[in-house]
Amino acid sequence: MGRVSPPQAEPTAPTRDVSRTSVPVTLGSRPRAVTPHRSGARLSPASMPVEGPLVDSFGRVHSDLRISITDRCNLRCVYCMPEEGMTFLAGDELLSFEDIGRFATVARGLGVTSVRVTGGEPLVRRGVVDLVARLAAIGFEDLALTTNGTSLGRFAQPLAAAGLRRVNISCDSLIPERFARIRRRGELARVLGSMESAEAAGLAPLKVNVVLVAGVNDDEIVDFARFARDTGRIVRFIEFMPLDAEASWRRDQVVPAAEVLSTIGAHWPLEPVAPIAGDPAPATRYRFADGGGEIGVVASVTRPFCGTCNRLRLTAEGSIRNCLFSDDELSVREVLRRGGGDEEIALQLRRAVWGKRAGHGMDEPDFLRPSRSMSMIGG
Ligand code: SAM
Ligand code: SF4
Repeated sequence: MGRVSPPQAEPTAPTRDVSRTSVPVTLGSRPRAVTPHRSGARLSPASMPVEGPLVDSFGRVHSDLRISITDRCNLRCVYCMPEEGMTFLAGDELLSFEDIGRFATVARGLGVTSVRVTGGEPLVRRGVVDLVARLAAIGFEDLALTTNGTSLGRFAQPLAAAGLRRVNISCDSLIPERFARIRRRGELARVLGSMESAEAAGLAPLKVNVVLVAGVNDDEIVDFARFARDTGRIVRFIEFMPLDAEASWRRDQVVPAAEVLSTIGAHWPLEPVAPIAGDPAPATRYRFADGGGEIGVVASVTRPFCGTCNRLRLTAEGSIRNCLFSDDELSVREVLRRGGGDEEIALQLRRAVWGKRAGHGMDEPDFLRPSRSMSMIGG
């Protein structure tokens, strides 16, 4: 397995206290110092801070926001949506761009430094370039977007001009017929063309998301590694998660990150890339030892990174969700639509983060699949 060391378990917060904290909060009370709890011990519910960074009750500071702008999509990937029968939000249920901008401004004030626009497919929502410009004007350190790449060819330049920094493009096979089977409505050539357009627009380094499903595309691990070496793009192998709308996920369909690393390592030795300090990105990074580029693995199932998770999500209809796998959501649309002030939005954000569980609990006997699938949450 080359120079890859065996996967290390990330530190996870040990206590599984799943109660939603209902905290009486007085705005303007004195701030409390928040020290991240390396032990994973839960802080007292009464100590939810009302100033300072966005912190949960395990001391995890949250600075990464995913904003879903639509639950609609022009594709129907087998691991995400059913072929037919998906119901979508009505237009008036979606958060307006103005409201998203307002929410993002409040989040920025609470220490959120990076934003990723996603969906569903974000490029199917009209006005997406204006939204990106609005978010860019807020001044995040990082502003990125995840797309299936079908329309990025025409959007790459305007998005970059609007202030987008980076894109992740999903692409699960390098074989045209298989690509079409997995994504049901997609065309590989078009997505590969989009990758070139993105790079030409300066949206680099380009990350390519590959969801591996055992028996479907796991025979392409080496081909994708070669693709990374040939193109300089960072291929990220993502473990299939129980977030498919058809609820057909099975554990034996998951291709463990360790298997990806050993398969690639047998061809080209890999070396771990030290994580950027303070950046608990979900992908564990590796570089080819001969300098041939980089890959990543997102091992949400076999090697959960909950202990360092710093991520929160805003769904397309304006709910704050603190974990992909938790159905606990707090609506911010309701606050926005009744004319609530920024302080109320901030408080809703703090409450949502404070209520985050220790981990996704997928390995625990009482684990329940979330009621909403990936495209409805925002991946
Ligand atoms: N439509 C865009 C796309 O496909 O890139 C953005 C939204 S999509 C929900 C975001 C990411 O989630 C994609 O990389 C997709 O492959 C991934 N994804 C969707 N369903 C998944 C699942 N069940 N397990 C793991 N990843 C999944
Ligand atoms: Fe659409 Fe992305 Fe889900 Fe595929 S993964 S169906 S492109 S939202």
